[in-house]
Amino acid sequence: MQISKSKALFEKAQNYIPGGVNSPVRAFRAVGGDPVFIEKASGAHITDVDGNSYIELINSWGPMILGHNHPMIKEAIIKAMENGTSFGAPTAREVEIAELITGMVPSIEKVRMVNSGTEATMSAIRVARGFTGKDKFIKMEGHYHGHGDSFLIAAGSGAITMGAPDSPGVTKGTAKDTLLAPYNDLEAIEKLVLANKNEVAALILEPVPGNMGLVLPKAGYLEGLRKICDREGIVLIFDEVMTGFRLAKGGAQEIFGVTPDMTTLGKIIGGGMPVGAYGGKKEIMEFVSPAGPVYQAGTLSGNPIAMAAGLAMLHHLNSTPEVYATLDSIGDKIVTGYRNSLDKLGLNYTINHIGSMFSLFFTDKEIFDFESAKHSDTALFGKYFQSMLHKGIYLAPSQFESLFLSTALTDDLISQIITANEESLKEIL
Ligand code: PLP
Repeated sequence: MQISKSKALFEKAQNYIPGGVNSPVRAFRAVGGDPVFIEKASGAHITDVDGNSYIELINSWGPMILGHNHPMIKEAIIKAMENGTSFGAPTAREVEIAELITGMVPSIEKVRMVNSGTEATMSAIRVARGFTGKDKFIKMEGHYHGHGDSFLIAAGSGAITMGAPDSPGVTKGTAKDTLLAPYNDLEAIEKLVLANKNEVAALILEPVPGNMGLVLPKAGYLEGLRKICDREGIVLIFDEVMTGFRLAKGGAQEIFGVTPDMTTLGKIIGGGMPVGAYGGKKEIMEFVSPAGPVYQAGTLSGNPIAMAAGLAMLHHLNSTPEVYATLDSIGDKIVTGYRNSLDKLGLNYTINHIGSMFSLFFTDKEIFDFESAKHSDTALFGKYFQSMLHKGIYLAPSQFESLFLSTALTDDLISQIITANEESLKEIL
């Protein structure tokens, strides 16, 4: 595989951009080798500047659920651009997307649009604090909620991949209000709540975490959290930036039947444009300025082009429920193929899977929280990643990420992925 143009770009980029990239995991530090620079993407494929084409299993870390450059979304963006790119004033599209989101996710009675998942989670915590008059919040080890200061404590995703789950620059004052708990452990939450009685404003978690690799909630876990939060007057926040509109129209909360007080969203709701959102119960969201006293604002929030892309995406998902059956079937086919290969090769590696998200962990241990995820052999994952890349499969360059599938994956492409996986496993052993 020839990547000379990518190499030259990366060398140059490092002169001007820290680490040569605008988001850390993109640098391939955890998997070795130089990152490939992307020129274009269409459907199930992404193509680098040297002309190498790869089958996509990340899809821009989740947003491109229908594959890249979908004609319907492209058309919506082009049409919107004809009327200008930013107004900093209310538009009809913002009303339309708010109505659509509240219709698709019933626990969200009111919603505020922002520009990223990070903004959504930062704002949601502030609102929960304003609403309850309490300062502390509970966060799960290995969950990632963007790069807001108070979340960069035992953080997953790029933070753990770069070896900095607790980032320098976060003050002790900030960190002391973030209470950490292991995921999937209700007893730990009970203890934490008891030790901080009447001081906890919110409990935030990824209901199905994808940022320490994909991990599933144990039976009764989310229900248990709901009960504790109700009893203690704690705002339960589901961070569905990854799972929202991916696992189902109504996200993980629809699948598991547990209703949070607030939800944070991103990725898919922007159709590939920079968008986030947070919302929830009316009485909580009425605390947001100018309805209430908690300040939160944004020059580009509700940007007309981003709203047009998001609307095209959400209208499609809302009116085409078969999309989720298609995604589930694609996920099932790939994971079944992987499991068959593991059996054939006598390997016991763990696969966690739900719908169109899955992770292959290089360990035979069960992965149910941050500590167990760390059992994975990251060096072996790095070799596997490189082998898959050379076979034309584009994976997340970290063991601690989920893969995200799109409806653009045909049966033929699925077979290619399964074959490449089996050959790569053989190659690295
Ligand atoms: N929350 C979750 C669950 C995420 O996975 C991410 C990003 O991957 C974020 C929040 C932050 O979103 P963004 O990168 O758009 O700021």
